[in-house]
Amino acid sequence: MKRIGIIICDRYKSCDGGKCFRAVREKEGAFRRYNDQELVIVGYSSCGGCPGGNIEYVATNMKKYGAEFIHFATGFLAGYPPCPYITQFKDFIEKVIDVKVVIGTHAMPDNYIKAHNKIKDIPEKY
Ligand code: SF4
Repeated sequence: MKRIGIIICDRYKSCDGGKCFRAVREKEGAFRRYNDQELVIVGYSSCGGCPGGNIEYVATNMKKYGAEFIHFATGFLAGYPPCPYITQFKDFIEKVIDVKVVIGTHAMPDNYIKAHNKIKDIPEKY
C-alpha cells in the first residue's frame, strides 16, 4: 500500500478532481508507477494561488498523514503558463519536508500536448 497526497494548481481550485481520482483508481497516467499496489489518498488541496503560499502547509500535513509521495496535478503543467515554481516547490518538499514529489496525475489532454510541443514551454525532464 502507498499513501499519497495530491496538490493542484489553484487556478483549477473549482476542479471536481474526477480525472485525478479516476487515474488513481485505474492506475493511469503518473499512477502507473504503483502497478498493483493499493493507493490511499491522504490529502488533496491546492497550492493556495501564486506564488504557492499553501505548499509548505499542505505538504507538511500530508507527511503527517503518512504521504510517501506527493503528486503535483497535471494542471500544474497543462494550463497557461505552466506553473513557474514547479522546481522550487519540488525541491522544497523533497529537501525540507522530506517527501518525494511526482509531477503529474492523470494523462495530459491531447490538445495541451500539441500546444506545449509547438511552443516547447515544458522542460524535457517533466
Ligand atoms: S501557477 Fe503555480 S503557484 Fe500559481 S496557482 Fe498554479 S500551481 Fe500555484
